[in-house]
Amino acid sequence: MIVLGIESSCDETAAAVVRDDRTILSNVVLSQLDEHRPYGGVVPEIAARSHLDYMDSITDQAMKEAGIGYEDLDAVAVTGGPGLIGGVMVGVMTAKAISLARQLPFVAVNHLEGHALTARLNGDVEFPYLLLLVSGGHCQLLAVEGVGKYTLYGRTVDDAVGEAFDKSAKMMGLPYPGGPNLEKMAAKGDASKYDLPRPMKGRPGCDFSFSGLKTAVRQQIQKLPEEGLTDPVVADLCASFQKAVGDVLEDRVGRAIAQFKQDYGDGHALVVGGGVAANTHIRGVLTGLCAREGMQFAAPPIHLCTDNAAMIAWAGLEHFRLGHQDSLEFAPRPRWPLDQ
Ligand code: ATP
Ligand code: MG
Ligand code: FE
Repeated sequence: MIVLGIESSCDETAAAVVRDDRTILSNVVLSQLDEHRPYGGVVPEIAARSHLDYMDSITDQAMKEAGIGYEDLDAVAVTGGPGLIGGVMVGVMTAKAISLARQLPFVAVNHLEGHALTARLNGDVEFPYLLLLVSGGHCQLLAVEGVGKYTLYGRTVDDAVGEAFDKSAKMMGLPYPGGPNLEKMAAKGDASKYDLPRPMKGRPGCDFSFSGLKTAVRQQIQKLPEEGLTDPVVADLCASFQKAVGDVLEDRVGRAIAQFKQDYGDGHALVVGGGVAANTHIRGVLTGLCAREGMQFAAPPIHLCTDNAAMIAWAGLEHFRLGHQDSLEFAPRPRWPLDQ
């Protein structure tokens, strides 16, 4: 079974071809970083226009690199939401056109389910598992019982983790995109230098909060001596910030593991997904936690953590082989919670 996947929910125009034996035949990602950098963040209108300009050629390229023709496909899958609606519409229209012209089944995929199932494209991860979804727009803990079967354990009450990384990086004067640049600076810094808060740590439940941490970074910057944000200061602040995030995640995931073990017993995995899962410090924290808890830990390879279409093709394939497909009447969804 071979599925073409299309992704355009944020600022990458992406197309990929994936086979059911978990081979990624092609995975083309065109990032719009340069177009949004002058604005320090993603501008929805610019994103939508750029998706429109490049979607056809990126899709062609994915088919060429896979070395197959449209007649070799079994289905076409596309991000149907959640995301910036202009971009999602471009992807959905493209996928519908291909489906109609080539008489192929059409599968609308929840972008978050793409992140949630990527670990299964990469290795042996059986259901049920505990999922930590940490991305630019989301921070959630869920029990994943199967394809399309999610139970929410906890979520952020304010900012997403990726958002906290991006906004803190911006305050420190780091270039867009904030998350990866913050991680690079943190590698050169001393994490014990600044005493930042650990919001929600030790509280009952599995919810998160990151806005207080972001505010603490701002206050710390305002308190700096006259030289201000020198490279060594930024490095220490980044390291301290990253350490605070890691400590909070460790605490919250620890609680979710206890709940998950009560619900599903021992012998299952913790899976991490979403752009922030690319962070080496956070992967390390979760690896240690799982070792202590006797759980398998599964994280996608770093290049499959941030947005790509291989994860969409794979999620579409997982649905399609269970007999799921969507009608061409499908309407793009700006909001689409995983547990609904
Ligand atoms: P969502 O998936 O919630 O719709 P999105 O698709 O915009 O949001 P992703 O592409 O999954 O988000 O992830 C992007 C986020 O991941 C950004 O906030 C980015 O800063 C963050 N990120 C990427 N790499 C790293 C890293 N190495 N360390 C920390 N954060 C990172
Ligand atoms: Mg992006
Ligand atoms: Fe994403």
